[in-house]
Amino acid sequence: MVVIGGGLAGMRAAVEAAEGGADVAIISKMHPVRSHSGAAQGGINAALGNREEDSTTAHTFDTVKGSDYLADQDAAAAMCDDAPKQIIWLEHRGCIFSRLPDGRIAQRPFGGAGTPRTCYSADVTGLVILHTLWEQLERFGVKVYEEYFCTALAVDDGVGSGVVAYNMRNGDLELVTAKATIFATGGAGRMYLKTTNGYASTADGMGIAYKAGIPLMDMEFMQFHPTTLKENGVLMTEGARGEGAHLLNALGERFMFNYAPNKGELASRDVVSRAEWTEILAGRGIDGCVLLDMRHLGREKILERLPQIRELALDATGKDAIEEPIPILPGAHYTMGGIETDKWGATRVPGVYAAGECANVSVHGANRLGGNSLLETIVFGARSATHALDYIKKIGDVKPSEKTLANERDRVGALLARTGGTRAPALRRAMNETMSANTFIFRDDAGLAKAVDDVTLVRKQFDEDAYVMDKSKTFNTDLVGAMETDFLIDASLALAAGARARTESRGAQARTDYPERDDANWLKHTLAWRQPAGPPRLDYSRAVTITEFDPQVRTY
Ligand SMILES: Cc1cc2nc3c(=O)[nH]c(=O)nc-3n(C[C@H](O)[C@H](O)[C@H](O)COP(=O)(O)OP(=O)(O)OC[C@H]3O[C@@H](n4cnc5c(N)ncnc54)[C@H](O)[C@@H]3O)c2cc1C
Repeated sequence: MVVIGGGLAGMRAAVEAAEGGADVAIISKMHPVRSHSGAAQGGINAALGNREEDSTTAHTFDTVKGSDYLADQDAAAAMCDDAPKQIIWLEHRGCIFSRLPDGRIAQRPFGGAGTPRTCYSADVTGLVILHTLWEQLERFGVKVYEEYFCTALAVDDGVGSGVVAYNMRNGDLELVTAKATIFATGGAGRMYLKTTNGYASTADGMGIAYKAGIPLMDMEFMQFHPTTLKENGVLMTEGARGEGAHLLNALGERFMFNYAPNKGELASRDVVSRAEWTEILAGRGIDGCVLLDMRHLGREKILERLPQIRELALDATGKDAIEEPIPILPGAHYTMGGIETDKWGATRVPGVYAAGECANVSVHGANRLGGNSLLETIVFGARSATHALDYIKKIGDVKPSEKTLANERDRVGALLARTGGTRAPALRRAMNETMSANTFIFRDDAGLAKAVDDVTLVRKQFDEDAYVMDKSKTFNTDLVGAMETDFLIDASLALAAGARARTESRGAQARTDYPERDDANWLKHTLAWRQPAGPPRLDYSRAVTITEFDPQVRTY
């Protein structure tokens, strides 16, 4: 079995596979503990039963409501039901969670949650879990091929048989044959000019699966996090509002109660981001920002619970959150869309799985709740490995896909052979600019049509003209960056085309020309199938699974 990616989803999958006796390896373009998961701040949701009013059903309901009813309810229930068990699994393997005075795991309030259920380790939760899993990899002796960049998926006779990876140390393309392949390559925030995501969140797994004929689902739903720094896009965790921070406009008003009378600052992210942007557009912002005010929490609480974001804000803005409010604005944060899977992480191609942010299991629908993504990585990392363990027992050997290797040698060789043209960073910049201008918080047909046209043109320029100046074989970041740009272009085009076709407002997609949610026509998933040139073919054959909760009007 091979796992592509060493973030939380990839490591959790590999540990489950190793515990189950599989011969498993991880391929990662960087050292696993440098994965973006390590930047996760606020926490991980689970109905641990510490509060009478909480239950896995309440967690499922909040998740489905947060998704604006687009999540598949069986998948959401599977995630929320597994959550307490997975937190205990982590705890038993040494994960250090923050605690209540009586020793139980502490939980903080988070946006869109009916009750405080977000477990955390101060504001460095992702890093703490990442190191816990790394220790488990060491314990089982899981082999990690780091600085290997996966470029393609091998599918022969309709069945997955491994991947091709580019060895960044010597420039070789190598075939990795495996009965089961699990993609855990993270998100696609780098479609936008500014994002909270790391530089490696470049849609690689999505692009690879998509090229191999697997559809991307619901790509139009991109989450814009309400509190990011203007200077560098860095995140100020929702945990700050969870701990009681306020959002203020230029008049010093706590404006959120005008938009979400019950929940205020702790409404779900799409609601808070739209409210902030509305205030800014109405001229009640300050230099294009609103303010995150933590002063009243006091020095002690800030230093104990939110030390990292205080430092990040101080470094970037020169402002100390203990003494001054921090200017913030919404920024690209989380890719709800991704590789279509079922609730076991299985794609349509036998032997190919996806877990974590690159996947769309359909637990987040049109808007993800804070704290549910770390949970998704752990739950569906484990579940995809469980399914894959079963699958590899049932099938015979797979043959090495020499054809895929030869294709990749040709493709990458052609890119390197070109002696002039447009350099990939310029193409990426053009894509970033149109995505940021036309597929941000508020969207309309004219803007989305422009985004589709612009990115289609970038696609064409890339295919005909992309130029990699560096021809070296060792750590050729120019080449790797170009391949990442290739994947980002495909993801962007799927996003823009899906958003344009969806003539309604739901969750993170707010259309000024179609301001209402339209269940009669749009309570369905978007499947995007890659076309060799131009926008994807869109198909709506996958219905939303509704089990317990009928769609209602969503208010906070
Ligand atoms: C700043 C920030 C804070 C967040 N805070 C929270 C939070 O508090 N709670 C929460 O629930 N969620 C949070 N999220 C979201 C959550 O952290 C991510 O969705 C999640 O960690 C993604 O994990 P992953 O394992 O899917 O991917 P990642 O952690 O991004 O890992 C991807 C891995 O894939 C590898 N990879 C990628 N492409 C290739 C390739 N072509 N070849 C080989 N390897 C490849 C990379 O090397 C990396 O190891 C936050 C996100 C950000 C950006």
